[in-house]
Amino acid sequence: MHKNVNTEDFFREIRKGNISFLSRAITLIESTKKSDQLLALQLIQYCLPFAGNSIRIGITGPPGVGKSTFIEAFGNYLISLGKKVAVLAIDPSSSVNKGSILGDKTRMEKLAINTNAFIRPSPAGNTLGGVAQMTKESITLCEAAGFDVILVETVGVGQSETLVYSLTDFFLLLHLAGSGDELQGIKRGIIEMADGIVINKAEGNNLQAARFAKKELENALHFYPPKKNQWKPEVHLCSAIQNQGIFEIWEMISEFLTLTQKNGYFEARRAEQNKEWLKKSITNLLLQDFFASAKVKSSIKKMEQSIAHQQISPLDAAIKLIQLYRNKKEE
Ligand code: GDP
Repeated sequence: MHKNVNTEDFFREIRKGNISFLSRAITLIESTKKSDQLLALQLIQYCLPFAGNSIRIGITGPPGVGKSTFIEAFGNYLISLGKKVAVLAIDPSSSVNKGSILGDKTRMEKLAINTNAFIRPSPAGNTLGGVAQMTKESITLCEAAGFDVILVETVGVGQSETLVYSLTDFFLLLHLAGSGDELQGIKRGIIEMADGIVINKAEGNNLQAARFAKKELENALHFYPPKKNQWKPEVHLCSAIQNQGIFEIWEMISEFLTLTQKNGYFEARRAEQNKEWLKKSITNLLLQDFFASAKVKSSIKKMEQSIAHQQISPLDAAIKLIQLYRNKKEE
């Protein structure tokens, strides 16, 4: 596909904001071919000095809460303010099914055809960590291409939220008003991560329940320890489908940015995330290399059988396999 196109060409076109090249570059990142990956690494290196200037917003919530509808409304609003918006998805099911259900362009009709928007469905990968890693690199390319707001979407089912948190500056949780105990459906850890909670579908017959849920969540948030960055998470009502509450949500994020950019926590969070990603990347690369090693491959089946017959413990087997792997490196 990219025959006769070198890294310099890619870089030049990306800097011009050429969406088709940006898209192809992300495909390089997602490729399993070594030569593509080398090209991608070089490209990321070129783009790095021009990256970092966006606001990265994580958007999460259970299926059906209205994430796509919200992104459609929010994204178009941001574009009306003169911004360029990229939407990247981390789909926890894609690592298993090799498919992608999020970032679905058909659910973001207006945004998908807007020249100031870029929507990229979740990459398929073997591990959720690997999928998130590709998203991290894609953010760099999108920023170098001039996108100033990056929305990273994930369906809230556990580990994927933590990964999105480790990629973004502001973590927005979408929620539906329930009947009664608002906190029951949300895990404590997720609430702790949230910088903002949006109660969607707050219109018509739902409005009363949504207002009640807002009060209850606000009360509950008082009992959480204050955040180091001094930000007090806010709860907002929204009707994504009716385009209501969108302005207030952007206003909240803007206030968050003003505060954290002034008190240094914006940069501190990114620095912390980069440290985390260094560790994650080492882990990912080592694991890949370990399982790709011929010596490990030839012994692992035997070890599994020995473990099944209780001839060796999993820990002991792991130690022996790592020894084999290390010896291979020293040869
Ligand atoms: P996702 O799975 O979180 O991405 O949710 P979708 O954006 O696909 O929305 C799920 C369903 O909820 C769709 O039928 C939407 O039309 C509907 N929906 C989304 N936002 C709203 C809203 O603000 N009000 C109402 N009444 N329905 C909404």
